[in-house]
Order: sequence, then C-alpha cells, then structure tokens
Amino acid sequence: MSVLCRVACGVLVVLGPGGDAVAGWNVRAPGVGGALATSGTAGNSVASGAVDEMPAWIEARLAGLLPEDPEAYFLLGEEIIAEPVGKAEEDLARQLFALAFELDRSDGSPSWIAPSSCLALASIARLESDERWLRALANRLDPRYAAPVWRGRGGAEGISEASLRAAEAVGEARAGWGVQASMLLDKPGVREVLGRYGRLMGFSSSTGALWQVEQWSREWPCRECGNERVVFRPNTDPPSYRECYTCRGNPGPTLSREQLVAHLRFESRLLEGISRSWGAQLALDGGAPLREPVAEELAAVMGVSVERPYWRAGWVANPSEGAPRGATVGAEPGG
Ligand SMILES: [Zn+2]
Repeated sequence: MSVLCRVACGVLVVLGPGGDAVAGWNVRAPGVGGALATSGTAGNSVASGAVDEMPAWIEARLAGLLPEDPEAYFLLGEEIIAEPVGKAEEDLARQLFALAFELDRSDGSPSWIAPSSCLALASIARLESDERWLRALANRLDPRYAAPVWRGRGGAEGISEASLRAAEAVGEARAGWGVQASMLLDKPGVREVLGRYGRLMGFSSSTGALWQVEQWSREWPCRECGNERVVFRPNTDPPSYRECYTCRGNPGPTLSREQLVAHLRFESRLLEGISRSWGAQLALDGGAPLREPVAEELAAVMGVSVERPYWRAGWVANPSEGAPRGATVGAEPGG
C-alpha cells in the first residue's frame, strides 16, 4: 500500500511499502530554472490546479537516470524536445542537457556529449545571442562543431546585423519615422528577429511586436507636418509658423511609461549582444537576477547542479532522498 504524506512544505510524496518515496508532486516554484511541477506515475490522480502533469514515461525515465551515464540524460532531453512541448517540458529538457554537459565533463575529458548538449541547448535557446554563445562553447570543446568554413564569417555577422536593424526599426517607428522603419523592416532577417524576440517588448504573442511596428510605420510620419512639428501660416509676412494640430509637435505614437521601458529593454538586449546574453534569457523568463555567461555557471543558470544528479520529484544529491530540499518549494498549500 502507499501512504500519501507531506514531507516538506509544498511537497507531496507517496511512500511505498518500504517507506521509500515512489512519486511526488512539487508545487510550482517561482523563478527561473526552479522546480518543475511534476506528477507521479500513471494512475496517481492527486493533482491540484497548481500542479502540471508530466507524462508518466518521462517521470519513469527521470527516476532511472544515473550520473555515471550522462548519455541517458542527453537522450531523454532529445526525446522530450522531439515533439512540440510546453514550457515545463522544455525547461526540463534544458536541465537534462545541462546535467549531461556537466556530468560528461566532470572527469576532465568530455566526450561528444558535452558539445552535443551545448548544441541541443542552442537549438532551444530563446535568444540568438544565447544560441551563438552555446555554439561557441560547443566549438571550444570540440572544433568539429564549428560552422562550416565555406559559410565564412558572413553568417554570424548577418545575424548581428539583423539585430541592429531590428532595434533601429523599433526606434524609428517609435519616433514616427515610418518610411525609415519600413525600409529597415525589409532588410534581411529583421522581421524574423522581431518575431523571435518581440516578447521582450511586452507582447504576449510572438507576432505582436512586428504587427505594432508595421502599424506605426503606416501611420507615420505626421500627415499634416511631415514630422516638421510646425506648419506654415499662409499669408503671413514675415512668414510665421504654428504648432502642428495633428501631432501637437511630437510625432510618433504615444507610449505609456511601461511600454517605453519595454521598448528600451528590447533594444538594449539586442544591442548588448553576446556578453550579457543570459540577461536577455532571464528577462524572457521573468526577470530573475542577471548572470554572466561563464561555462561553469551553465548548470546553475539552467537550474541544476552536478551535485544533484538524481531525480526524485526534483533533482537531489542522494538517490535515497525522497524529495529535493533546495529551491523547489514554492508555496505552502493551505498553510
Ligand atoms: Zn504633425
């Protein structure tokens, strides 16, 4: 028989006959890379609104992972992202790749697994700067993962050029220079960058930012003054001018303070580029503290530690532990 008990605040664990934990549920923790809300094995239906279901096959595979076999972590991550998945599964895959990366290189001689894990992380990175950094890391571990020589340096430069143009397009549209913004939107890769990172501008949909910039580009410049801010008063001598009635001398869309901050954040993230790439990642993930992109911090950024390689409803240090002790408890349900 199984016994359902609360072993720590926010964590429910099912104990098997021998008292060992066989399944657990973590209440979702706030923050980046924290606990993934998980459910236990199939057949357990103890779940509340605060809990996400993790498919039973993933839960079973997680429980069987051993740090001596980093390849199993990598392969499970690959299988999870092979299908379209939600954020919880994607975060879990990130943690699996990060653990595979750390476990593979822990003996000082990384195999194919560490660089492949970097490339896998790059493939699901939310920002191109993160993607570039992860690819560079893979390349440093194994030069065979470098971009083909025939591609030259053009690819990477093309990417950063598109980021720069996207940031400029947003700035021009905000200032009411619609023609210039439209021309920038038509440059290679610019619409793609806006689509991919537009959420940094505060839009919930990936197409929101591009739609907004295109709309402003059509509405501006000011139809009355052409962004001159003033218009000529006819039949005046000496010639005199009055403030434009349409834009009131301030061309461009009216933005709230919140919108303006979101715009500037978007532009600065794109222009900061690779050196603060985790910052942009975290901004997308909800504004957790900034982290520098140091290889040694990869696991921590992904919310895992090589010291906690076992999955028991969360990553733990000791396979006999029933539930994780750190960083997994979000709330105490019902006090
Ligand atoms: Zn005007």
